[in-house]
Amino acid sequence: MKNNKQIRTLILLTFFLLNFSQLSFSNNISLERVEPMFWWVGMQNPNLQLLVHGENIAQSDVSINYQGVNLSKVNKVEKPNYLFLDIVISKNTKPGIFEIKFTQKNKVVETYKYELKERNKKPNIHQGFNASDAIYLLMPDRFSNGDTANDNVKTMPEKADRKNPNGRHGGDLQGVINHLDYISDLGFTALWINPFLENNMPRYSYHGYAITDFYKTDARLGTNKDYVNLVDSCHKRNLKVIMDMVFNHCGIENWFIKDLPMHDWIHQFPEFTRSNFHACTIADIHASELDKNLMLNGWFDENMADLNQKNKYLANYLIQNSIWWIEYSGIDGIRMDTYPYPDKEMMAEWAKRVFVEYPNFNIVGETWVQKIPFAAYWQKDSKISGSYNSMLPSLTDFPLYSAINKAFNEKEGWTEGMSRLYYVLSQDFLYPEPDNLLVFADNHDLDRILSSVNKDIKKFKMAMAFLLTVRGIPEIYYGTEILMHGFASKGHGFIREDFPGGWQGDTVNAFTSIGRTKLQNNVFNYLQNILTWRKNEPVISTGKFKHFIPEDGIYVYFRYNENKTVMVILNNNDKSDKTLNTSRFDECMRDYKTGFDIISHKQINDLKNISVPAKSSMIIELK
Ligand code: CA
Repeated sequence: MKNNKQIRTLILLTFFLLNFSQLSFSNNISLERVEPMFWWVGMQNPNLQLLVHGENIAQSDVSINYQGVNLSKVNKVEKPNYLFLDIVISKNTKPGIFEIKFTQKNKVVETYKYELKERNKKPNIHQGFNASDAIYLLMPDRFSNGDTANDNVKTMPEKADRKNPNGRHGGDLQGVINHLDYISDLGFTALWINPFLENNMPRYSYHGYAITDFYKTDARLGTNKDYVNLVDSCHKRNLKVIMDMVFNHCGIENWFIKDLPMHDWIHQFPEFTRSNFHACTIADIHASELDKNLMLNGWFDENMADLNQKNKYLANYLIQNSIWWIEYSGIDGIRMDTYPYPDKEMMAEWAKRVFVEYPNFNIVGETWVQKIPFAAYWQKDSKISGSYNSMLPSLTDFPLYSAINKAFNEKEGWTEGMSRLYYVLSQDFLYPEPDNLLVFADNHDLDRILSSVNKDIKKFKMAMAFLLTVRGIPEIYYGTEILMHGFASKGHGFIREDFPGGWQGDTVNAFTSIGRTKLQNNVFNYLQNILTWRKNEPVISTGKFKHFIPEDGIYVYFRYNENKTVMVILNNNDKSDKTLNTSRFDECMRDYKTGFDIISHKQINDLKNISVPAKSSMIIELK
């Protein structure tokens, strides 16, 4: 038992400590960030959750006074440096600026001026993308250096070094803007740029997939305003823009990784634990929990923390971040990195929320799987995903990519050569919407197609003719048009080389025809011709696809609609020119007498017997 005096001292001491601590807390409160830093009135979803970060910010009271805006809940989490504010913005709220007041004992300690803007009303925004498009994919650090002043940024440790294949080379958004006419003149209608958000990592950060700030353009690539300028400049040229986003992981130098709001914001292990990268485990009805968990929760890399999308605050943060970028910049679509790796329920919720705001939008998920069912599982309204619906409209067609990379190098067999293409496409019944698949021969992670076909121009041209006439949305990687080559196994830097002419002082400028070699111009013109034709042909974008079993190394398929039929012939024979007897294709050809090959620009007067040179393609408009 304590005596009275002791108790009195204890009470006094407690009183003093309490007051002292409050006093010291009020000295220590600071506001560093509010994200999203602004928002819009007139969104379909009235709810907004603001992440507030600052020292001991959770020890303040929060108030908002603005007509139509209701602070419905203030969420405190494990760390006192965070608050999550639930806000409801009612329908007729007017745009404007209000103060978010952080107070202690009725004394304002911090204020944030929050802006609710009018929604983006620029023309040509949020268009989506589809099979009428052809996408040019580029890596901004490696395409063109439009502003040498941003090559090195004082506060960012990694400096430009063009000699290092894994280093930063100084390319930027202005460099892309400077060459939009080049891309548009080539015949492309959409641009996919690898991630441009801040990657303030000590090294190997040029690729953009280790984001350290989800709301900020990397200063070495430009500013947020530069990105908006890029999108506007694209839209003026009828180029759509697809933003590359990453929900699965972020760079370990991300500001919120250094001060985690809560333990389960990311997946944490006693020691570094890598994903097993077996995306098949998600669809596999026999998969063990161990394998599934490792796939989903293991880290992609030591430098990339695995985000936990099951955490409701993080989920909201990412979803709102994507909507913020769509509204702010006016982009037309999203390419989502490592699509099967985040929590799939959250990803479905994300897609739903995006399409509520932007019904014309499109999203392609990077579904890097080898077998068709594992891909088909992920497409919206999949017939083979049980009760799960991803709500994801478009997928990267990796099975077809694999087939393209092998088919033109192979001798014909039951499932090899042209039959390899045939057998991939013959399984399209597994996809709810095969026309909405992204088709490609390579990308920033893969061997360049020219290397895959052993630098054989004939094979290369066949692959391109196929890619641009098959069902789906074609994507072509920058530099393909000027015969850039490289194997990923040598290092990613070798498939992501600088575009010649993109840097001041480059000895060669391949952006101009005089800067290109004869062979480069030949290939450039070949692609430009098909791309330009394709973009005005609804028969390719919305027409049906019908193919015939390859025979004698020749694959024939038709694209057709009510008004038009296009016949595509791929002769995969190495040496022998062929005369193709077309009687087998009567069901597609009976109404037609002549044709015009858009590759050779030659009239075909006799459709009964068509001569096709060895290792070549024909794209014939039937008349
Ligand atoms: Ca630069």
